[in-house]
Amino acid sequence: KTAHHPLVYLNGEIVETQNATLPVTTQAFNYGTGVFEGIRGYISHEGENVNIFRLDEHIRRLLNSASLLLIDDIPTADEIQKSILNLLRLNNARSDCYIRPLAFKQHLLPGSGFGVKLSGVSSGLSINTLNMRSYVKQDGIRCTFSSWRRIADNAIPVRAKITGSYVNSALAIESARLSGFDDAFMLNTHGNLSEATTSNIFIVKENKIITPPVNAHILEGITRATVIILAKERLGLEVEERDILPSEVLMADECFLSGTGVEISPVIQIDHHHLKSINDESTTLSIRNIYQQVVRGEIDNFSSWLTPVY
Ligand code: PMP
Repeated sequence: KTAHHPLVYLNGEIVETQNATLPVTTQAFNYGTGVFEGIRGYISHEGENVNIFRLDEHIRRLLNSASLLLIDDIPTADEIQKSILNLLRLNNARSDCYIRPLAFKQHLLPGSGFGVKLSGVSSGLSINTLNMRSYVKQDGIRCTFSSWRRIADNAIPVRAKITGSYVNSALAIESARLSGFDDAFMLNTHGNLSEATTSNIFIVKENKIITPPVNAHILEGITRATVIILAKERLGLEVEERDILPSEVLMADECFLSGTGVEISPVIQIDHHHLKSINDESTTLSIRNIYQQVVRGEIDNFSSWLTPVY
């Protein structure tokens, strides 16, 4: 279940959601020139606090994405983090939640001519938060290979989380859903596996986990990086980052998605091909369990990844 918190941060002010409005001339609305993050906060295992998972990494990626689009006149990482914590407290966030900072191109500066461009345009920043529990089916999801190719890095930089790029994801997931699937696997222009519409993909083969490399035209997921660390350090699994052809996914022992939103989601069917069902011995489940323990602060070694709200 998701429910919007009543207050939103917009350009340095705290306003009611219905008053957090922007003019139709906003550049990002016209041209997709915004960058954003999706971040989760989790109730701690003792139920006393809400912890934001890997906030530093998310804000770093936000600012890296922003600098690529010349969105430079926005608050610093430290200021953005403080604004996020402040907003969650003002909204009295006491359950699992989702945090969405968005930095965007706003208005043409005086003397700057009309048109598509990045310089000569002011920047803005908004933050909104929601209550959000896990939303993915626990027993696994069904995916299809999309006929839409993943945007290539030489068209729109894939490492940056740019609003306009999500047209590609929206087309792919919509088409998958209309055909009765939950999500779509996207191939890159070389025909190799890239990622799903809002998550990264892993396969499991003989106790090894394999995922497309960072140069497979993927967003470098923070959950992906987390899975790689946990698989190696906590589960002693071998991890390979290498190109994957579609047929290798069909023949894998297991397959799962990783992402802030989908968390760790087992994939049980790809097109008409059924993978092994998930049981207590599944590698995917051990990864999901350890991930859940880490985000809820049950494992001390990884407490540096958690930022307490209160
Ligand atoms: N790829 C895409 C296209 C995404 O939108 C996301 C979600 N941010 C991911 C991968 C996973 O990234 P993360 O683990 O940082 O949420």
